[in-house]
Amino acid sequence: MELKLYNTYKRVKEVFTPLVNSKVSMYTCGPTVYDFAHIGNFRTFVFEDLLKRWLLHLGYDVVHIMNITDVDDKTIAKARNLEVALNTITDYYYKCFLQDARWLKILPANKYPRATGSIDKMIEIIQSLLNNGFAYREPDGSVYFRIKSFSDYGKLSKINVLNQKKTKRIETDEYDKDTPNDFALWKGWKEDDGDVVWNSPWGKGRPGWHIECSAMSMENLGEHFDIHCGGVDNIFPHHENEIAQSVCFSGEKFVNYWLHSEFLMIDDEKMSKTSLNYLTVKDLKKKNFSAESVRYQLLSGHYRTKLSFSTKKKQQSDKAVHRIYEFHLMLINKGALDIKSDKLPNSYYIFADCMNDDLNTPKAIAEFFTWMKLMTKKINQNKSLTSDEIGAAWNYLVIFNDIFSFINQNKNIIPANVMDLIRKRDIARSKREWGYADEIRSQIKELGWLIDDTPDGQKVKKA
Ligand code: AMP
Ligand code: ZN
Repeated sequence: MELKLYNTYKRVKEVFTPLVNSKVSMYTCGPTVYDFAHIGNFRTFVFEDLLKRWLLHLGYDVVHIMNITDVDDKTIAKARNLEVALNTITDYYYKCFLQDARWLKILPANKYPRATGSIDKMIEIIQSLLNNGFAYREPDGSVYFRIKSFSDYGKLSKINVLNQKKTKRIETDEYDKDTPNDFALWKGWKEDDGDVVWNSPWGKGRPGWHIECSAMSMENLGEHFDIHCGGVDNIFPHHENEIAQSVCFSGEKFVNYWLHSEFLMIDDEKMSKTSLNYLTVKDLKKKNFSAESVRYQLLSGHYRTKLSFSTKKKQQSDKAVHRIYEFHLMLINKGALDIKSDKLPNSYYIFADCMNDDLNTPKAIAEFFTWMKLMTKKINQNKSLTSDEIGAAWNYLVIFNDIFSFINQNKNIIPANVMDLIRKRDIARSKREWGYADEIRSQIKELGWLIDDTPDGQKVKKA
């Protein structure tokens, strides 16, 4: 089955075909670095990471750009309230974001452009929009995009601006679908902006939020690229405005596939800074969550459905990832690391179909678990498995873990010297050399690993 992705622009699942064979250009709206990112933000980032991991698995060469919003209404307000320079705030929270993303095992983007590094490109786009009648200046030095000048305005978010007699102007970066008005490309300097200011052909000022992503995406990926992602709250106004600015500037189509992830909820409400109902990675660490357990909770729901995060579900997600961990040890104990095989079990193909069907993670994970249960049962019942079967099982597990990263890598790397001793001990046991087997057990213990002798053979775990 070919990969199909749900394109918000058309509201249908479409077969994914990249612009350039085997290469994928992908832009994801990154964090606004005025505070710690919460795990609602991370639901979106983990979904984008999953998409990227699946594309990599399918053999695509992915170029992933994630921007850092380091100048906007929120970052400026925070710096002003704390009476510090803007970059004191943004540098700090950018660093925290990278740390949290690493903890959550999100693969790093190829580049994290910061908005303040692309001001020249923003000015170039705005000037061109002015020259071609898509934008107009205001006496306070601001420049606004005229939404009525772009006939496709509203196509992404399915709003109709033609009903509006006259469009007003919206100065703030964020607003609702009910107020689709001309939006600020450039904001003339105000006292509240303090020293956050750049020179432009229209006087001193700073960019609006939306132009930032048009500039950073086009600068890094070209004027027309494959995939653009964000959370559903980015559909309007942010992505709608990005399309308008970019298409009117380049005269080309901007993005082929728009993908949006639904909200992470807490007690039936969207997790957000304004509702004060949010949890950060730091909060989760305090509650003893492992990264794998959080990833399990975030990925076990489909990205296009709302998902409730709950610390009450911790036991369940801990158990699920532990079962995979145990299974991986079981296969190691069966000699999986020594088998060279390029086979895969049938279950992998069902799993891959689920993933190709718009990343249906709940179905894909369920398929993997059903198969894992069956394999575990076979191993526990000492059913003879061929080395091809074990090799195929291991290959599947490795792929599954490359996509979901549910296995704690710190726990699972059994050093080669320990593996060697385990093998020696296996031989000793088969020859009934119990004294020698005990000696080896002590050597393994000294290296920080414990051996359990079970009817299925030796089981290893960290001491
Ligand atoms: P921000 O830092 O506010 O620019 O948001 C970064 C990303 O997180 C954006 O793509 C948002 O759409 C997304 N986001 C914000 N809140 C949530 C939530 N509760 N669930 C899922 N994604 C969210
Ligand atoms: Zn953006």
